[in-house]
Amino acid sequence: MKAVRIHEFGGSEVLNYEDVPDPELRKEHVVIRIRACALNHLDLWVRKGLPGVKLPHILGSDIAGEIAECGEYITDLKPGTRVLLSPMLFCGHCEQCNTGRQNVCPQFAVLGNNADGGNCELIAVPRVNVVPIPDSLTFTGAASVPLVFLTAWHMLVGNAKLRPGQTVLAMGASSGVGSAAIQIYKMLGAAVITTAGNEQKQAKARELGADYTIDHYKQKISDEVKRITNRRGVDVVFEHVGKATWAECIKSLKYGGTLVTCGATSGYDASIDLRVLFARQLSLFGSYMGGEGEFDEVLKHVFAGRLKPVVDRTFPLSETRAAHEYLAGSEQFGKVVVLP
Ligand SMILES: [Zn+2]
Repeated sequence: MKAVRIHEFGGSEVLNYEDVPDPELRKEHVVIRIRACALNHLDLWVRKGLPGVKLPHILGSDIAGEIAECGEYITDLKPGTRVLLSPMLFCGHCEQCNTGRQNVCPQFAVLGNNADGGNCELIAVPRVNVVPIPDSLTFTGAASVPLVFLTAWHMLVGNAKLRPGQTVLAMGASSGVGSAAIQIYKMLGAAVITTAGNEQKQAKARELGADYTIDHYKQKISDEVKRITNRRGVDVVFEHVGKATWAECIKSLKYGGTLVTCGATSGYDASIDLRVLFARQLSLFGSYMGGEGEFDEVLKHVFAGRLKPVVDRTFPLSETRAAHEYLAGSEQFGKVVVLP
């Protein structure tokens, strides 16, 4: 099959479109013919070099396609069924897995990160990863769902325990997680303040349901939040930008507020004044993916059309280098997807 592999870490030039062996069908696995694979900032981090990535490596975590073949032990699925894949691999028998917290399993891995992913034509995965999708969802749309909706759901519902009537600051409306978070907040009855880098992106954020938008290049985020919330601050900050806006995020929290973060796109060495942390009684959560039960929960809303994947544009798999460069340039609103 064709695949985009890396043999070394580095810039987009290390992405090679090449022939690789087809995956082997094991008795307990399902082979998927991939029709779409969405990119995430995770792909850029993996390409640049993360611990635990074995070379050569196939990137790509968000996968949709059709079942090509089922292993001998798989009796409830048929070839031809349209599916998306849960991107998480886990042991299935530890204390964390048994309590539905697969994302803190000691053997936790993510397709495309510490296991081969979906920038290719075929992939073999365990049955538990395979989720049939409704006809209303295109392959491109389906591939745009898993990472961002699971991540945002776990952050807001699992960690921040978001409740109706709360006010949230969702950083980065144009990112995949940002556009998912805005929709989840609105569905759960919260007021949403979001940030975006130009008027066009702000207009799109309002279309998704944002109540207020802040231009993070022209306006000071914490000043705007204070103005909008009548000096109170927000209940929850949804963060993934990192160093560039960290101080503004902390300043935007109300007393007793919660910040939950899943990324550090602009840099990871941010700091906090501990006096602010304890005196203002803030809660800080780090978050990575979510549990399988949370994935099922958020997918119900996606399949019913209450939450919608936001797709910016697609590239052919053979042009994955250009897709990486486009994502790194932050011009997009929503997901960038490669098509084998
Ligand atoms: Zn486990």
